[in-house]
Amino acid sequence: MSARWHVPSASATPWDGVDGASLTPAQRLVMEAQRDAYERIHTPGPHDAEFFNGYARGECPACHSALVKRNGFDARGIQRYACKACGRGFSPLTGTIFEDHRVSVAGWSEFLLGIMSYESLAGIARRDRRSPTTPPYQLAKVFMVLDGIQDGVVLSGRVQADEMMYPVPAADAVLTAEGRRQAGGYSRNSTCIAIACEERDGGSSVFRVLGRGKPSGERARAAYCPHLGEGLTFVHDRENSHNAVVRELGLVSEAHDSRVIKRLPDDENPLWKVNRLCFLLRLFLDGHSGFDRSNFGGWLDLFSVMMNPPDDRLEKVALVLDRAMAFPNTLRYRDYYGHRSSSGG
Ligand SMILES: [Zn+2]
Repeated sequence: MSARWHVPSASATPWDGVDGASLTPAQRLVMEAQRDAYERIHTPGPHDAEFFNGYARGECPACHSALVKRNGFDARGIQRYACKACGRGFSPLTGTIFEDHRVSVAGWSEFLLGIMSYESLAGIARRDRRSPTTPPYQLAKVFMVLDGIQDGVVLSGRVQADEMMYPVPAADAVLTAEGRRQAGGYSRNSTCIAIACEERDGGSSVFRVLGRGKPSGERARAAYCPHLGEGLTFVHDRENSHNAVVRELGLVSEAHDSRVIKRLPDDENPLWKVNRLCFLLRLFLDGHSGFDRSNFGGWLDLFSVMMNPPDDRLEKVALVLDRAMAFPNTLRYRDYYGHRSSSGG
């Protein structure tokens, strides 16, 4: 079983198969350290079974019948279930991102800590002795877990809002007749992201894809309105598309001239908080240059977890792992790469 998720390339050393007696003490140390680091992430940890068994299953993942019974434990101590309606067996892992055991839960915890600490996927692959293809796959799974996490967020009080333009990858860019990349603030070659945040300390924030190019009133309404309580104070620049949002929800509009406020120091700038979120989001996205932009919303869901309560990074990791078990949703390795290679052209 373990042979299936064993990735030789990530754990290999130049001394594999060499008689230990012929190695120098330094070579032996590097070899052992490499193996230990690999094992730590890839071997099921001592707390894995306890974690999985903490999520009792009351419904069959195949036929959704509630006629399920406990059916002993597997070799790792994980609860087995049997469905009395369809006869299938399953475990707490069935249908979750942990189903294929490629990475231990402790390995997932480390991965989430890394990605939420602005670490690059390549850096995480190196540190955890993983194949370079594993972290992008893990990230795609995290995006599935986080899907919908911003849906219920409704802001109140004084809310600052602004848009951020982020360039699309070169392969997706629209070129001019002369073959040059179209430039400018609202180019079709940029994705427009809507950012809104409560001004109060510890307030919530939302990050939504508004679309490519200049924001229209209709797209601004679609991005902002589900997240704004009626009658709140909307603090913004004089971007035209905001009028549709203000009208739709009867907001109190506090509009500032962007040419004036961009010259103000941070502590006098009425959009200081949303500006800071723009800055951090750009830093985060730039840190993952070359990332798969086909799921831009997934990156924004992840960033929203990073920017919203709970404050402690370890609490955020626990939140994501809990959500992964509470809302089973998986992505099979083959499906992920099959989809990518067919859509990547
Ligand atoms: Zn069933």
